[in-house]
Amino acid sequence: MIPQRFSERMRNLLGSESERLLSALAEPPVMGLRVNTFKLTPAALQQLTSWPISPVPWCSTGFVIPDELRPGKHPFHAAGLYYLQDPSAMAVAETLAPKAGNWVLDLAAAPGGKSTHLLSLLGKGVLIANEVARGRLKALGENLERWGSTHAVITNNEVARLAQGWGAVFDGVLLDAPCSGEGMFRKAPEARDHWSEAAVLGCAARQEALLAEAADLVRPGGVLVYSTCTFAPEENEQVIAKFLAAHPEFELLPTGLSGVSPGEPLWVPTSWRSAKLGKAARLWPHRQIGEGHFVAKLRRIAGDAPARAYQPFIPAPGATRALWREFVSAALTSDPVPDLVLVAQGEQLYAVPEQLPRLSGLSLLRAGLWLGTLKKGRLEPSHALALALTGSGAQRTLELAPENPQLAHYLAGDVLEAAGEDGWLIITVAGFPIGWGKRSQGIVKNRYPKGLRITH
Ligand code: SAM
Repeated sequence: MIPQRFSERMRNLLGSESERLLSALAEPPVMGLRVNTFKLTPAALQQLTSWPISPVPWCSTGFVIPDELRPGKHPFHAAGLYYLQDPSAMAVAETLAPKAGNWVLDLAAAPGGKSTHLLSLLGKGVLIANEVARGRLKALGENLERWGSTHAVITNNEVARLAQGWGAVFDGVLLDAPCSGEGMFRKAPEARDHWSEAAVLGCAARQEALLAEAADLVRPGGVLVYSTCTFAPEENEQVIAKFLAAHPEFELLPTGLSGVSPGEPLWVPTSWRSAKLGKAARLWPHRQIGEGHFVAKLRRIAGDAPARAYQPFIPAPGATRALWREFVSAALTSDPVPDLVLVAQGEQLYAVPEQLPRLSGLSLLRAGLWLGTLKKGRLEPSHALALALTGSGAQRTLELAPENPQLAHYLAGDVLEAAGEDGWLIITVAGFPIGWGKRSQGIVKNRYPKGLRITH
């Protein structure tokens, strides 16, 4: 049931249009997917699948897909060819629009929808994907791993802690704020049970505090994007209006999105009202495709830029680097991370972008690409490395088409039989790496991670 007070509030805001919103909320949610352009183009995915997908107007890599195709269960999902995401959520990273080489910070990142999108737009910059809730880190890690990311850092800190530690050094900061989730009413019906007007006001107070802290991380000229998946003006236009009143060093910019609705200045009390609030964007389930979002783009126009402090890394010792080179020459066609620094942490080997913000004193989960584990004088490659490779990145591959029953066996963790040269090999689906196997005399030991296996 849609909460009655929610319906009343929407009637007060939207008048007769509210009936269209309420009928839209009675429909099933819209399923979207965003193509992983590190791996393939939207046209290539379409050719590969022949799925009847239709474009999302504000995101050139986003599409609507019929839910009955169950794209989340398809092996192409396990290969990281796309991320399943509400189309309205695709407006957020498009608004931030990071440029190659930028330092971008996603403050509330899990499960990683906007972080994967930011990585695609960013290319070889740095993305810090921060998430305060420990229980949500696993999903974030898995999603970034499937994306094949090499330039992401996962941290687990309060926003205020990050602001104290780093200061105004980021080119782009995203606060995809915890909210009352009115835009989740279709996808997660429990959001309806948790909703109350008091929750809306509680969320608004938290958002105001978080946005002020987030602002401290934006360098002069840098961009701060604020978003929610709720319709309540208290959590949207009003948060932005109060922020602008207290922060003259920021201006509101147009989002640059096509096909969206404007922010609503009239939903803000007169003391903070400004026509400029129309520059923010609203996406409504009865006007646009998707579940509903609010997005505002702010730019810092004044302030001091502190010098960036970089994380000092101790490069892996020569003997460890030699083990990596040995693995590359035995199993890969070339070094996939020639421009990254190799760093060993205990038995684990990582490839890390050279210039990362200083991480000391922060709770850090992973920086860069996990390459593998050093065991008995050899490198055991990680699943993350498999997903960061292209199909031609490995010397030995075993192609299993989506409909090949052997692929289901592989994803379930079974041993496979396949004649060929001994050694590490990459299992591919339609040419895209999905995981490792290790072959010895025609028997392929399964190295698909236990936690990801799908039993049939
Ligand atoms: N950006 C994510 C994505 O696209 O997949 C969704 C983020 S969700 C809307 C909001 C996030 O805010 C949740 O992951 C939640 O754990 C986090 N959060 C909750 N309270 C917070 C706080 N006080 N400070 C920072 N983040 C918080």
